[in-house]
Amino acid sequence: MAHPIRRSNAARGVAAGTVALLAAAVLPAGTASASSDTAKSQTRPAQHVIMFDFDGFDPRFLEGRYADLAELPNIRALIANGAHGVADGSYSSYSNSSRTTTATGAYPAVHRNTGYYYNQETNKGVSQERYIEPGVETIAHSLKRQDRTSAYLQWYAVQNYGATYGDPAALYTQPGGNCETRADQAIALLRGEPVNSGGTMVDPAAIPDLITVYCDDVDGALHDDGFSDPDLPAALARVDAQIGRVRDAAREAGILDRTAFIVTADHGAREWTIPLLPEVLDRLSVTGLKVQVISSSGGVPDPTSEIVIVASPRTADITLSGRADTAKNARHIAKIIKGIPGIAAVHDERDLRRMNASDKLGDLVVEPVEPYHLSTLTDGAPRASHGALPESQVPMVLSGAGIRRGVPLRNVGLVDVAATISALLGVQPPATSQGRVMRKAIERS
Ligand SMILES: [Zn+2]
Repeated sequence: MAHPIRRSNAARGVAAGTVALLAAAVLPAGTASASSDTAKSQTRPAQHVIMFDFDGFDPRFLEGRYADLAELPNIRALIANGAHGVADGSYSSYSNSSRTTTATGAYPAVHRNTGYYYNQETNKGVSQERYIEPGVETIAHSLKRQDRTSAYLQWYAVQNYGATYGDPAALYTQPGGNCETRADQAIALLRGEPVNSGGTMVDPAAIPDLITVYCDDVDGALHDDGFSDPDLPAALARVDAQIGRVRDAAREAGILDRTAFIVTADHGAREWTIPLLPEVLDRLSVTGLKVQVISSSGGVPDPTSEIVIVASPRTADITLSGRADTAKNARHIAKIIKGIPGIAAVHDERDLRRMNASDKLGDLVVEPVEPYHLSTLTDGAPRASHGALPESQVPMVLSGAGIRRGVPLRNVGLVDVAATISALLGVQPPATSQGRVMRKAIERS
């Protein structure tokens, strides 16, 4: 595999703030430009799309190192009858930012949802945020604009960005619980039953065209104790089982032959036990600059700090401040850190731009080699996290109505999901989408 974060032609040279221009440039010519109902039905391979988005579902649960942890019969059945591959996420691989890439079909450089960084405008460390750059459309916006219905079950990336509580046309719900509770709502929608949406029972008039189901069971277990977490096999089995339950409900509702299924994730995970941050701080002392590590949950740096670090297990975001903010200092610091054994990469501004990362990240982003970590914890307990490049890879499974069988998916990414769902439903992708339709997976009509 070449570079994990694919660089699309459309994204080349795009900076935030040029969203309107971009939209004009990337709207694919001839994609579902149906003007009549007859034409629409010809360009719509599926009437419904149901997507499962499993937080932290590393592709190695299906193939490779961790494939023996759980059998995953339902995902494997979808793969056997559909298209499957390992897809690129987006950078950095934190949940909200990655899921916003899925929801918008745009890279973080455009949607600007950013994780684990120092926000210079608010002068605070940020862990994760609910944010989408004004003017950037989500799949919830674009489906509603095109008179298609959708429901997002705990799929928070679109909450108040196209979907809201109580809106039967673009419904957001937050059932809580585990994956089973989320699937219960999908099953209710398939049965034509009302679902709880922010305290109000909402009864959509018909089965929504798109249903997304978000589950974080797997990510939770990974964060706790890594890949050897005793609850991980059960979490994997549970999320897999929900696919079977929802599929059965689609069959009972009589729509199975018109429904496409997508299974994907926001990121994978890597384990960490050995602290590397003390070594980084020690080496940086030769610069003579004042270094400060701030908390990602609202930490405020001292005004005299010159190197501000938001340190998390899998990335350390480094911002140069005040008079220290020079290209020369950035180069010098990068060189020092690259020389530390256990460092995998130091991404500078050029690297970050090339990866279509958010401009809100710092001057440098440092990544350790597994099992080193850059968090402030030093207890050596085995845990897993994400944020860096290796774990930006995710599984991508497409199966069901309109999807070809036995097709390997290559060079696809989370950025392509919104365009692909739109193509399956025969509508235009979100206006600011940069992704491409996964055409190899879709049957020619
Ligand atoms: Zn996580």
